[in-house]
Amino acid sequence: MSEQNKIQEMTEVMGKFVSMIGKILPDDVMDKLTELRSQEDSRLATAIYSTMFDNQNLAKELNRPSCQDTGVIQFFVKCGENFPYMGKLERILEASVLYATEHAPLRHNSVQTFDEYNTGKNIGKGTPTVFWEIVPDKDNVEIDAYMAGGGCTLPGKATVLMPGAGYEGVTKFVLDIMTSYGLNACPPLLVGIGVATSVETAALLSKKALMRPIGSRSENERAAKMEQLLEDGINEIGLGPQGMSGNKSVMGVHIENTARHPSTIGVAVNTGCWSHRRGHIIFDKELNFEITSHAGAQL
Ligand code: SF4
Repeated sequence: MSEQNKIQEMTEVMGKFVSMIGKILPDDVMDKLTELRSQEDSRLATAIYSTMFDNQNLAKELNRPSCQDTGVIQFFVKCGENFPYMGKLERILEASVLYATEHAPLRHNSVQTFDEYNTGKNIGKGTPTVFWEIVPDKDNVEIDAYMAGGGCTLPGKATVLMPGAGYEGVTKFVLDIMTSYGLNACPPLLVGIGVATSVETAALLSKKALMRPIGSRSENERAAKMEQLLEDGINEIGLGPQGMSGNKSVMGVHIENTARHPSTIGVAVNTGCWSHRRGHIIFDKELNFEITSHAGAQL
């Protein structure tokens, strides 16, 4: 097959993949929602969960997006240094979003900032956004695709704490956001926290934390403990499904971190909503692919 045909093939696979993640939630999210539903006892909370599950079934049956806000598309790419299509990848991903916009279809969510017009294609300056990592001695590519909706993006915040604020400052920052904006983001939420030196590193880490499978814990024992404590604390707020009150508020709390400057802690929060639409796909150098987020997925 010619290189051009190969590129076309990958574009179509990614276009169908992006379309699919807007309709079918990943396995870990469905499993967690099932677990959280079983932990609610009020009539309102259980009725909302039933509606969520009905919505998911209908999205699949009718082949339609599971939420009207199909978000701005973001890709997190771990590309092997020897992956043969590395130089073409950004164009392939952009074309895949165009494909999904037409075929899924996706809502038109790319407004050119300042010029204030909607491109109608989900493609604009810097969108879809591609975040890169180059992996040495590999020839495959791993891609997380994510739909960043308006509501779940709303609580996003980053700051650099005053020296001396310490990890208590991190906790206060996170809980202040959860108690003020948490209910706007269609709970139960997946909470991503980035801890680093400056705001841009913390912010990117907080979004990467949302790509981790639900139920996973930080490799760092202390960070893992903080994830659990924050999870317990945010659950105590009792947001419940759709913020209408209940026993649980979150699907999980994930922390990602880097080493940092000795006198500062930069911290950021990003949230994913109950309709946490993301998918993970791996291509080898021949463009054979495997979808790891949705067992048995058919494109
Ligand atoms: S927060 Fe999520 S579920 Fe709620 S409207 Fe936005 S994308 Fe849809």
